[in-house]
Amino acid sequence: MTRDPRYDILFEPVRIGPVQAPNRFYQVPHCTGMGFLRPRMVAEMRGIKAEGGWGVVCTEYCSIHPSSDDLPQPYASLWNQADIKTHALMTEKVHEFGALAGVELWAGGAGSANLLTREVALGVGSMPNLAGNPFQTRAMDSKDIRNLRRWHREAALRARDAGFDIVYVYATHFYLLAQFLSPIHNHRTDEYGGSVENRVRLVRELIEETKDAIGDTCAVAVRMAADDGTGTPEQPVSDERREMFSILAELPDLWDINVYNYEHEMGVSRFVQEGSLEKTMHYIKSVTSKPVVSVGRFTSPDTMVSQIRRGIVDFIGAARPSIADPFLPRKINEGRAEDIRECIGCNICYAGDSQGVPIRCTQNPTMGEEWRRGWHPERIEPKSSDATVLVVGAGPAGLEATRALGQRGYNVVLAEASTELGGRVAQECRLPGLAEWARVIDYREQQIRTMPNVDVFLDNHLNAEDALSIGAEHIVIATGSKWRADGYGRYHNKPCLDLGPAEQVFTPNDIFMGRVPQGKAVVFDDDHYYMGSVLAEALVEQGVEVCLVTPENLVSAWGTMTDEQYQTQQNLIQLGVQIITAHGLDEFDGSNARLSCVYTERTRVVAADAVVLVTTRIPTDSLYKEIAGKIESDTSGSDPAPTLHKIGDCDAPAIIAAAVYAGHRYARELGTDMEQSDVVRQDKLFDPD
Ligand code: ADP
Ligand code: SF4
Repeated sequence: MTRDPRYDILFEPVRIGPVQAPNRFYQVPHCTGMGFLRPRMVAEMRGIKAEGGWGVVCTEYCSIHPSSDDLPQPYASLWNQADIKTHALMTEKVHEFGALAGVELWAGGAGSANLLTREVALGVGSMPNLAGNPFQTRAMDSKDIRNLRRWHREAALRARDAGFDIVYVYATHFYLLAQFLSPIHNHRTDEYGGSVENRVRLVRELIEETKDAIGDTCAVAVRMAADDGTGTPEQPVSDERREMFSILAELPDLWDINVYNYEHEMGVSRFVQEGSLEKTMHYIKSVTSKPVVSVGRFTSPDTMVSQIRRGIVDFIGAARPSIADPFLPRKINEGRAEDIRECIGCNICYAGDSQGVPIRCTQNPTMGEEWRRGWHPERIEPKSSDATVLVVGAGPAGLEATRALGQRGYNVVLAEASTELGGRVAQECRLPGLAEWARVIDYREQQIRTMPNVDVFLDNHLNAEDALSIGAEHIVIATGSKWRADGYGRYHNKPCLDLGPAEQVFTPNDIFMGRVPQGKAVVFDDDHYYMGSVLAEALVEQGVEVCLVTPENLVSAWGTMTDEQYQTQQNLIQLGVQIITAHGLDEFDGSNARLSCVYTERTRVVAADAVVLVTTRIPTDSLYKEIAGKIESDTSGSDPAPTLHKIGDCDAPAIIAAAVYAGHRYARELGTDMEQSDVVRQDKLFDPD
């Protein structure tokens, strides 16, 4: 297939100072949860982005000196010669495919607590650690500033030696340089504080010194926010931020622009839509002649073209769209835009870094597994036999297993009890703010539709006899799970009997099916991710008065991992939901819910007409057990028994990303010794030399 000429502009080369990008697709720096701990994992993953057509591929934040250490969040580092070697693993792979490699040099300031190195963090002033650690920075004196400038220069030289083409001065995301620029954080009275001219001084010096050190071979990029947090929704950009940009305008070779509010920049699709940075950063190209890149969870080539034609950016920046589909540019180039695996904006990728473990992605199960398991997002081993595989259940696990088995060339029969594909995703994407999650289904449905070796049977509830009568050599059960109605979970470690008249007790499944409480409902959230708060919002929309009760101290506490907790709680407060934290639900008698404080066990009573239990789920594994029983008791010895596996929520309920991963893994490993396949690979998690 050939490229649609409308998209030609996306494939024009663009000069960035002394280097040239082969096209306008720019993978901006993004965390991976790998960093200096797992350089081979990083190198393989970044190399695949270059293979997939990204013209620029950057690292994550890369520390210039041990005084910037962010563990347990794994960052990259360029402290010494050994670091040059490990970064060269990445730059070589990126160059192999004709892309440029960029490195985001990083000084942490009050953003880093240095828990590993135990260095004192340096700050624009004596500031509290911004991540909440009980440490303060040392207010940098002139010697500290001289040292910092030297460290930055030395790291830039090492970056060049490691083969990088673009070296960043990183002046945003609340780290050290952003604090120097900030009218809020910079209270200095020396030549680095006070006037705008003084506050940009350090950034200006670092740009000039980096250019002086490596500017003949490497481009120097600056990452900076278009606003400074002092604006209003109507006028987000202050006059002084514009002034800063006009002072620095022509100094770097490239501007990488974000916005002050990280939850906006990195917003989940529940709260932030594609292309939403534009209203804040649209003016940047009018103040500089240098190329500009910015992000916006861009997955539509038409939106990308519009951004460029309207003079908003020169490069299409992406972190998440490049994670969900490392081959996005190639697919557009080859006229296969419909094959793009679009990011759903769930931020599970970000949770890896939050928790200090390698990145994963809901849409792309190969993300983070390129080196450990040797998985490629587009290529997969052909089938190892002419077997037929029966997949039961078309949720994310069954759909991904079907797609990947189909790609391998197996004959696949997919049976689904309901009349639509998608399982839990089909239900959840109808909830407030979760519409983009339907992309989990759309991508797989679109792929499966083109596969003549895959047959899909909707409205087919199988029992064990049905399943065995199909005669498939392999059966994989992906029948999902159901939310529990008995309260069992983290708070109640055994099912509780006193949860009131059954007709006044609801689970998320009831609400999915349109069985909704009347009057006032207590939503008891013992799950702590999105479901409790999304259902609270859904009920408010349907006129129910909602009180959300959680044993945690925050609403949707796990949402801190995906950077959506703050917006979630803010949203519920704005919707008028009554919020009771640090309480469990002990009892409900049909008109009152008795709660108790998790600290004191003191009780309180809330009047309610219903309770909605968002606790834990029960695997729907009876079909698996019945088939297993039949296979075991079949002594006829006539035909060889089919292999039988269960995957996804029917095996162990978890996030959607885990179900997709389980489906993908099953498909990859069919025909191998599945029991043994993992033992060797676990070693690779530690990335030994
Ligand atoms: P997962 O997240 O593991 O993919 P889901 O709960 O999303 O699981 O999807 C499970 C799917 O399996 C649902 O669409 C459900 O209708 C289907 N299903 C459950 N039991 C059967 C069965 N016996 N026969 C066919 N399909 C089934
Ligand atoms: Fe997008 Fe979610 Fe994948 Fe992140 S994890 S890239 S937000 S689909």
